[in-house]
Amino acid sequence: MAQVTIIGAGLAGSEAALQLAKRGINVDLYEMRPNKTTGAHKTEKFAEFVCSNSMGSSDPTNASGLLKQEMETLGGELIKIAINCSVPAGNALAIDREGFANTVTEKIYSNPYINVINEEITEIPKDKNVIIASGPLTSDSLADSVKEFTQNEHLHFFDAIAPIIEKESINFDKAFYASRYNKGEASYINCPMNKEEYEKFYNFLINAPRIELKEFEKNAKFFESCLPVEVLASRGVDTLRFGPMKPVGLVDDRTGEKNYAVVQLRQDNSAKTLYNIVGFQTNLKWSAQKELISLIPGLENANIMRYGVMHRNTFINSPKVLMPTLQTRQRENLFFAGQITGTEGYTESIASGLLAGINMSKYLLGEELLVLPTETMLGALMNYISNPEHTNFQPINSNWAIVKEIDLPRQIRKNKKEKNTILSQRAIDALNNYLK
Ligand SMILES: Cc1cc2nc3c(=O)[nH]c(=O)nc-3n(C[C@H](O)[C@H](O)[C@H](O)COP(=O)(O)OP(=O)(O)OC[C@H]3O[C@@H](n4cnc5c(N)ncnc54)[C@H](O)[C@@H]3O)c2cc1C
Repeated sequence: MAQVTIIGAGLAGSEAALQLAKRGINVDLYEMRPNKTTGAHKTEKFAEFVCSNSMGSSDPTNASGLLKQEMETLGGELIKIAINCSVPAGNALAIDREGFANTVTEKIYSNPYINVINEEITEIPKDKNVIIASGPLTSDSLADSVKEFTQNEHLHFFDAIAPIIEKESINFDKAFYASRYNKGEASYINCPMNKEEYEKFYNFLINAPRIELKEFEKNAKFFESCLPVEVLASRGVDTLRFGPMKPVGLVDDRTGEKNYAVVQLRQDNSAKTLYNIVGFQTNLKWSAQKELISLIPGLENANIMRYGVMHRNTFINSPKVLMPTLQTRQRENLFFAGQITGTEGYTESIASGLLAGINMSKYLLGEELLVLPTETMLGALMNYISNPEHTNFQPINSNWAIVKEIDLPRQIRKNKKEKNTILSQRAIDALNNYLK
């Protein structure tokens, strides 16, 4: 009889367990809480929401809303429970977190195929079928074992993410392509500033509100090697002009002018639709990031596809480790799921747990595993995290810039609502056709 070991009864692990059980596969579900805590979880319940109670938009013309619809199509269990436990929140799916965790916990304990074991797993089990869903706060000993499996360089312990911008929203009347000293391909997008613009930007930055660190994050050493832009700025008015905003060697060929400071953006995906702001890892509140970015010439109306964050987050370098099925490249009966794969957010974590559960069962039943079309949000996420061409991989939420490109007339591309409606319908059709 097939048997699977799942490590972690969080959002991804709970979903994966229920998927396997639904297909008649026995699961040993290991959860270290309440014996050992993560520092962020507050209860011993499964599928606990550690912070906000919102799963983001439920409108399918929104990237996160589409992902929810795809989860429903794929037979997701936690999404059904979330909808049943929802509380009024406009277009967003917000949940009664206690009701949600209680229902998931109850469903798991009462399932005859699932055996819950309240223990920490300290090493990746060798001769078992395993799904690792131990989350962003994976215990240290398991993290060491994952590190060994992924050959050291492929495990990270914190997010230090700079905001990511949709290229289409950049104003190229002001921004220009160039590489420093014209070396190599002119692949960077540069946003030039004069003295006055720089000073306004700087004054906003040093006074902008920051996200408060959690107790377990305050002691972490991770900020030392990768300082947030606001910390650099607080060292002096010119620190950024001699650091990430250095203007030397960056000339706009259209004007030939030298600049006082330059914000650079680096290509973030192979489709060239996403660009990250170089050296701008930040811990500012998201509303402050939005205002700060709007002060950068060329980014006045930028679509921020992902805000900068800095927090403890254990995640593997999935492009080197995983396939789009969520199986590891090295070992076919070992899968990863949840935030540890670099799919960031509650909804994304549940979605990857869903796919890992389905694909592990297919693997055990000798069926072909799902590689979802990249028109779909889940397929695009899997493609993004498993693309071996990625360098400097950082976790990602669902967003439109990662789905397969579509050729649309300019006036539709400029109309966000219309474009997203088309992309959403295309995804729903692609998923239905694929599942047929
Ligand atoms: C502090 C914090 C706040 C966040 N806030 C939000 C937010 O507001 N909105 C949002 O969308 N996302 C948020 N996230 C990101 C993410 O969506 C959540 O962390 C989400 O819970 C991840 O789901 P998961 O299943 O991957 O991990 P988890 O839900 O964390 O589940 C992992 C489980 O594995 C267990 N575990 C760990 N190691 C072991 C081990 N060795 N053996 C056995 N069990 C183990 C843990 O106890 C835990 O129960 C936040 C993350 C953090 C760290």
